[in-house]
Amino acid sequence: MTTFHLEQRPAGHDHGVQLDDTFDFINTLENDANDGTPNEHLPSAEQAVQWFTERGLIHADSLEASEKDLERIRAVRAALREVTDAVVESRAPKPSSLDRVNRTLRARAATELVAGPDGVGIGHRHVGDPINDALARVTEPLVQELASGNPERLRVCANDLCRWVFYDESRAGQRRWCDMASCGNRAKAARRRARQKAAQAAE
Ligand SMILES: [Zn+2]
Repeated sequence: MTTFHLEQRPAGHDHGVQLDDTFDFINTLENDANDGTPNEHLPSAEQAVQWFTERGLIHADSLEASEKDLERIRAVRAALREVTDAVVESRAPKPSSLDRVNRTLRARAATELVAGPDGVGIGHRHVGDPINDALARVTEPLVQELASGNPERLRVCANDLCRWVFYDESRAGQRRWCDMASCGNRAKAARRRARQKAAQAAE
């Protein structure tokens, strides 16, 4: 199956997908910052496909997704999480996760130049399964970031219960928490309690 789509972007933007989309995808399995309870934002195959459709990554309107597709989507998400964690923690990722990400990338849609009414635009040609294609495209920005971006700016929230993935855009590059109001203050309160305890013990 080969379908062709013109990107809904001005010429020169060959990737409509950004690193934020990659992180949004990883964060669709969101942990409660207070107790670490996982909150699944892709609870069904239908909703998972919808997540990609909303971002223009799947064009098919009537794509029938199965439980197996959902498993595949979640497995790629878990692999992306592991690889991101490994980058942030300066360690080697699990080989199975790395392998999964690399296999995902191989399904990537080909980028092509197309003639537009006012110049040259960028399109992409889908050559296979639309879900594999979407997974490849949502993985791509992480590769771009590692290749020519600022991978030292990738962050995993310092609250171990939360572990929200984000990009540190702060000037100093020392952002540690996904959100100061929730995880940051939580850490501060915990430190305060620990200090009070230590003070009481010392008395
Ligand atoms: Zn957090």
